[in-house]
Amino acid sequence: MANLHYCPLCGNWRRAFDEDEGACRVCLMRRFAAGCEDAIARELATAPIHVRRRFGPYVGRRGTLGVRPPRPTRRQCGDDYEAALERWELRIARMEWDAARQRLHRIRVAKAEDERRQR
Ligand SMILES: [Zn+2]
Repeated sequence: MANLHYCPLCGNWRRAFDEDEGACRVCLMRRFAAGCEDAIARELATAPIHVRRRFGPYVGRRGTLGVRPPRPTRRQCGDDYEAALERWELRIARMEWDAARQRLHRIRVAKAEDERRQR
């Protein structure tokens, strides 16, 4: 168990751990995704109505997240269960970050297009 580190943020024992940040990789990915969501909220606050309609909190998410891989089960993984679960959580967190980043990018492109049209 020497390669396990306790993450003070999520309270899990993790294999993938960022010593510099003092948090596990899953928490880091979640923090990045939250940062993107904050940026999205700020961009949408100053976006024209048609951009907001297109990318508001309940639209534009579908299709960007993709298909989630199934959660591993203990029966499937046996002794590897804890590690498999961590890999799965990391994958989901990364997918969410990717989706948020993609959405942020699309909003910025839509806003830039709109500004060009205004000129
Ligand atoms: Zn964590």
